Amino acid sequence: MTERDCPLCRERGKTWEGSDPVCAFTSGGLENRFSFINWSCATTNKLRNIAEKLGLTYRDDLGAGSFGALPFEGPNYQGYIVMTWYKNRGKTDNAILMCYDEPIRELTLDIAMEAIQYWENEWREKKHEQQ
Ligand SMILES: [Zn+2]
Repeated sequence: MTERDCPLCRERGKTWEGSDPVCAFTSGGLENRFSFINWSCATTNKLRNIAEKLGLTYRDDLGAGSFGALPFEGPNYQGYIVMTWYKNRGKTDNAILMCYDEPIRELTLDIAMEAIQYWENEWREKKHEQQ
């Protein structure tokens, strides 16, 4: 862990034996941009968990690999975060933002946090409605 790691990586730290985590948002050199070099970043793991919870993942170990997507509407960004990885391993290979009225963008920490916030709010509201 370093000071520059994403807030969720810093909060979580290392909670397992084996390879150290490599934050997806600090290992590429460009501030806050998603990097292909990563391992078990807490933010990308969370995005993948949300995609899974939404039923928007697909796994093909012998072919195209694993895929996940999550739709969201944030204050600055909206669309789908689309990710690929292999099997269920810690490295997230690609992550982009795509929507209907703009060209694709690289994922940034800001975009990722807006998507996480969006789903945490959605699920919090749903919980309230059920009570
Ligand atoms: Zn991270």
